[in-house]
Amino acid sequence: MIELSGLRRYNTRSGTTRLEADIKFIGMKIPAPADKLYLEVDANFGGMLVDDAYDSFMLVALHSAMFHKTDLRIRGNVSKRLYKNLTNYTQKILCDYSDEFSPVKIIVDGFTSTAATGNLIGAGISCGADSLSTVYDRFIREDDPDYRINALFFFNCGANGYFADPFTATAARNNFRHGATCAAELGLPIIFVDTNLHRLKPAESKETFIFFATFACVLAMQNAVRRYYIAGSYSYGEIKRCGVEFDCHDLAGFGESFFLPLIQTERTEIILDGCQYRRIDKVVKLADWDIARKFLYVCASHTEDASNCGTCQKCLRTLLTFEMLGKLDDFAKIFDVEQYRRESFNYKVSCVLNADKDIFCREIVDLAAELNFPMPTRSGCYILGDNVMLVADD
Ligand SMILES: [Zn+2]
Repeated sequence: MIELSGLRRYNTRSGTTRLEADIKFIGMKIPAPADKLYLEVDANFGGMLVDDAYDSFMLVALHSAMFHKTDLRIRGNVSKRLYKNLTNYTQKILCDYSDEFSPVKIIVDGFTSTAATGNLIGAGISCGADSLSTVYDRFIREDDPDYRINALFFFNCGANGYFADPFTATAARNNFRHGATCAAELGLPIIFVDTNLHRLKPAESKETFIFFATFACVLAMQNAVRRYYIAGSYSYGEIKRCGVEFDCHDLAGFGESFFLPLIQTERTEIILDGCQYRRIDKVVKLADWDIARKFLYVCASHTEDASNCGTCQKCLRTLLTFEMLGKLDDFAKIFDVEQYRRESFNYKVSCVLNADKDIFCREIVDLAAELNFPMPTRSGCYILGDNVMLVADD
């Protein structure tokens, strides 16, 4: 059994406020990955941390409990809505997604009060296409104060690597700096949330853990956050058509549209934003936004200065979209466009060849057709080893 107890909030000597709980792995054969879990913010924001509910720690501990097939005991209170959703629905989705998870019991002492107190409308700021699309729609275009973003957040909870890897904290700080510069230009406050939640990240199941850790960070801020936008990765149509293909390797593609709305409490609503678009539509939307031209960071190679290599799959598909729109040079300051130009032909050929089996290639080919942008033709494309050969046109 995994047990959580001793929830507390306190100020540290280094000027931060920490929300902390003890975690025990009772009667289990694995070495305990941690004896305490914490989330920490600058002391100026310490009042945001909720200290009467184990909701955030419950989420990451539930992931561990389901992964290790053992029950979860919480010696304190949780949100009734979250407890019911996790017990009745969320576990079923996770078990359908991958057989590495098993349903478990969650045993709690009781439930917290239901009064909402926060007035922040939050979102993350990774500066990827999904993230900037949400900020553009829900901050630049939104004028309803109940739904307009008024604070940005950056969570160090596992997206940048394993806790024990010394590069993880450095990468998180580098990415935070980039997000903070962007937030300053937008005129929005940004709150860095440091954690050790990723001590629980299992090497075999790292992809699903980040969902739980991210939600945990949002729900830790329940005293202040009334609504929080999570930027979705896939469109409703893609999830409907291709969900089964994402079994076991991409929870977002498998079902973020029905999984995520279950992560709620009475105090904080989490909204999945972005599923109303194809990925490529988000990139098209960002092409004319000056903030995107300065801060868009999609690169999979994780450079220290948040620059984009121009040649990884994420850079290639983003730059090909800009090329189709005639906007490539507008992004020359943040992408290696020359490198892209050297590699773009091979990428276009691979998009044409893989359009039937890869969502992103399909979107590229569809947009090219919509814009009358010339692409290599399918009958003329052959791949021999790593080399692309163009033999003849249709
Ligand atoms: Zn790249």
